Amino acid sequence: MKRLALRFTPVIFLFLTVAGVCKRPSGEAKNSASSYLFPTNASHMINSGFADYRSSHFHGGIDISTNGKIGYPVYASKSGYVYRVSVSPFGYGKRIILRHDDSTFTLYAHLSAFTGEIERLVDSEQRIEGKYDVDLRLRHDAIRVKRGEMIARTGATGDGGPHLHFEVHDSNYSFIDPLVFRSLDVTRSMRPRIFNVAVRGFETGRVRISGVIGRGNFYRARQTFRMTEPFYFIIHAADSYGRGRFKRPPKHIELKIDGKDYVSVNLTEFKASDYLDVRSLVDTRLSRGYKTYYKLCVDRAVPFTVFAPSSPLSGLIYGDLPNGKHDYKITVKDENGDSSSVTGAFVLQLNGPKETPAPPTISYFAEKDVSPMPGVALHFPKNAFVENVDLEVKRVADNAFNIKSDGMPLRKRVLLTWKVDDPKLQLFRRGRYGWIHEPCMNDGDVLTARIGYETGEFAAIRDDVPPSVGRIMVSRKNPFYVSVAPTDFKRYFVYFRVFDNMSRVDTDDILLRVGTQKFLCEYDIDKRAAICNVDAALLRREKYVEVEVRDNAGNRRVVKSRFSL
Ligand SMILES: [Zn+2]
Repeated sequence: MKRLALRFTPVIFLFLTVAGVCKRPSGEAKNSASSYLFPTNASHMINSGFADYRSSHFHGGIDISTNGKIGYPVYASKSGYVYRVSVSPFGYGKRIILRHDDSTFTLYAHLSAFTGEIERLVDSEQRIEGKYDVDLRLRHDAIRVKRGEMIARTGATGDGGPHLHFEVHDSNYSFIDPLVFRSLDVTRSMRPRIFNVAVRGFETGRVRISGVIGRGNFYRARQTFRMTEPFYFIIHAADSYGRGRFKRPPKHIELKIDGKDYVSVNLTEFKASDYLDVRSLVDTRLSRGYKTYYKLCVDRAVPFTVFAPSSPLSGLIYGDLPNGKHDYKITVKDENGDSSSVTGAFVLQLNGPKETPAPPTISYFAEKDVSPMPGVALHFPKNAFVENVDLEVKRVADNAFNIKSDGMPLRKRVLLTWKVDDPKLQLFRRGRYGWIHEPCMNDGDVLTARIGYETGEFAAIRDDVPPSVGRIMVSRKNPFYVSVAPTDFKRYFVYFRVFDNMSRVDTDDILLRVGTQKFLCEYDIDKRAAICNVDAALLRREKYVEVEVRDNAGNRRVVKSRFSL
């Protein structure tokens, strides 16, 4: 049996800032200079919504469909200035953040190109730094933009295929659901659906799931839960719009017991500090694919602002209710205020001396240093896991160790240092289909890494094979995606496959030389290929191109190719 990890310490409530939910900001007209403009004309279809559950974070914005194509204009949603521009083959890809005159921010990601001034700025920074990844913060008077002005074109850079990822932030950079603004809400809303209600015993971790019966937006739980230990509620509910098919999270969840408010969760906004804490809300052990189960219990050790506990017990049903039968009602709502609810009952039979009701702290993980084998040190920070976990770390081979955590994912990164005397050793994690390279640094003496999200088996493996490079090809159009942008006949795309199945391609440093000129290529992870946009006249003049690539262990390959246009 797991130890009941309650600490009865007074906790100051810091959750009072959660604003009225499901109410649109008042005074905002559908389309005025002060309202947000929908950032593209590609489509009004939302493929992924705000606060959608991703394994490592909340989805911080909306994904607007671009019909599987790239090159649609992206417009400034409000007037302001370019606050930040960044480029990376991962994550957001090519991204612009605007700061508006009302101090709010909007963000546009996975872009294929920036317009004029911004493109030139990025280009010169890449040349100065000599690497593909750049992240620029601009002065407020550097590049001004007007509402509706084109700032970029949609693309497929970073994670995922072609689409526009769009975020709205308030002046504190908190994430705001764009669809709460009338001028951005282009969806036809349906009321949320409730699939199951569940309870989890706090001492044993035992889960009971009840199906629901109902019609329209009223559901009733099939079972009455009989509880002999402290517990909390979990709900499997979802909302739908666009192509959503009941995959989206409800934006507001509310639990009442015997008619009294117990817990409410608001997912129409969250603080930047909550961005990675999706696993404090989502029950990762019950959720599968798009079936997302939401915990109605606050983990006190995390200052997590989407929760607004009305009860002193933060959602944990403990000693504040008398033994006997109680009624509950869980209501879920979407951005438009459409709602559904489920009602049911539970019978509480707690034994033993009744503790004085006080806000408990679920203390789930203390700082810990572990050494599974000589030369290897692991530092687990405080609250590295979202719940209590029986951690087991041990050596499994000369070059490998295993971190076991009952399938509980990491909330914070674990710091690894490994004494090595080989600069070609890299860190790998065992995946379902083989070893997967982990981002790490090897200075020749020490291998360091910050292990995140998943636990499992880790090994130091030597990589001395350089990446392979395919045939170098030239095309007038983007060879990977259909683009609706006008073709620039003065330029060509030079592209080639680059692949490294060990420590992966060093994506910062893929060089193309044409004559005396050097270009940094863009790497597309999905296509495993590098691409570069080169002046047509230059290509006609030179007979050879040369490609130079490295992997993360520093193995280098140079390929020279002759071609004619
Ligand atoms: Zn997105």
